[in-house]
Amino acid sequence: MRRQRRAKIVATVGPASASPDMLEALFVAGADTFRLNFSHGSHEDHARVHTAIRDLEARVRRPIGILQDLQGPKIRIGAIAGGKIAIAPGQKLRFVLSKDPGGVDTIPLPHPEIFAAVMPGQDLLIDDGRVRVRVIRPGREEIEAEVVTGAVLSDRKGVNIPGAVLDLSPLTPKDRADLAFGLELNVDWIALSFVQRPGDLIEARGLIGDRAGLVAKIEKPSAVEKFDDIVRLADAVMVARGDLGVEIPHEEVPGRQKEIVRACRLAAKPVIVATQMLESMTSAPTPTRAEASDVATAIYDGADAVMLSAESASGAYPREAVEMMNRIISSTERHKLYRSIVNAADPGEEQSAPHAVAAAAADLAEAIGAPVIVAFTSGGTTAARITRKRPSLPILAITPEAATARRLSLTWGVHACLSEDVHSYEEMVDRATAMALSEEFAQRGQAIVVVAGVPFGASGTTNNLRVVQIA
Ligand code: PGA
Ligand code: MN
Repeated sequence: MRRQRRAKIVATVGPASASPDMLEALFVAGADTFRLNFSHGSHEDHARVHTAIRDLEARVRRPIGILQDLQGPKIRIGAIAGGKIAIAPGQKLRFVLSKDPGGVDTIPLPHPEIFAAVMPGQDLLIDDGRVRVRVIRPGREEIEAEVVTGAVLSDRKGVNIPGAVLDLSPLTPKDRADLAFGLELNVDWIALSFVQRPGDLIEARGLIGDRAGLVAKIEKPSAVEKFDDIVRLADAVMVARGDLGVEIPHEEVPGRQKEIVRACRLAAKPVIVATQMLESMTSAPTPTRAEASDVATAIYDGADAVMLSAESASGAYPREAVEMMNRIISSTERHKLYRSIVNAADPGEEQSAPHAVAAAAADLAEAIGAPVIVAFTSGGTTAARITRKRPSLPILAITPEAATARRLSLTWGVHACLSEDVHSYEEMVDRATAMALSEEFAQRGQAIVVVAGVPFGASGTTNNLRVVQIA
């Protein structure tokens, strides 16, 4: 089985897709990596889905990625007596450091970090930005604020404070317990929500080590500002447009998306564009034209992967949403302008031998009309370096590591296969030839390009390039 497209699809699993049958349907429709959203569901639910995905993987004999998304320090207001209150612009509200239910104009906000951080004139955005209040008088236990926009304030809605760097660990006690559970399950990726500073990633890495890849979700302006350091410390990045779009003005999101995608390509780290991509498909079998265009834009931007959230987790049309994404990606990648747009964003060569060899492999393969580039990779870096060139032909990554094969389910253009280590040059050529044929990437009589690090088995080297004529 091989996909007829380069960019990957991440599908979030939820009540609409947790059954083994639906997981299989989503995989067949095009899902490459499944996301377990730990903002919802019990450990038992996630464990059951994890087992079902690993069973599916064994049945279809293709590596499938599993991404654990941690909730992170999502800030919420407390309970409001009666569940909700009507508010109006100009109205004064008091936010109090308390867990008790609030009244007519007193809103509980049980997060001392906020009281320590806010300044006069700063805005608090509540309920995904539907309510905006401006701080008039901050205080240690009470904040006086004025409603700028909004009509209703209801129980336990989320709060965003654009611009503020809060003294919060990105890992709450719940996140720490969830993370330990994810490592026990052996998930491939762990995504960290509301990353504010590079140190957040160092903290998470201390707990994860190399047992899973670390995804930095970019959903705070402070993360955008510190992006260079964040991308260096992460293994992959998610443009988390849901919260990012609340924290920064709508009109800045598309440009930030382009910046982040480009920087990730430069750093040879996979990047996922996420949230509201086909949102209306939660309740309709087809998307809006604007949504189809949004998916295509991410593909033209050069994203490694695009993601479905509620569409596949709780919507009425999970399979149709994956099918639609698959069609939009395939069609965009076949469009006559696609190559020139993606090539225009080529970050150029890095001044290092491994990058130069990878880039040369892509050029060489295109020059001789090879049908595939075969990359021997143990940790995945050789494949990542070739991908960076966004070559016009597929990359067949051969790895002895199941974890590497699964993680490559997020990487643009890579079809990963598991195969035991090669030990000699001859074995390398034989294996590359056999797998290019059996995976139906090449036919007899064709020449393929093979990239590897020699000596075999040592991670991180990319120093060998070979044209192999298949007899
Ligand atoms: P979430 O993250 O769905 O966990 O909030 C994605 C986003 O904010 O876009
Ligand atoms: Mn988010």
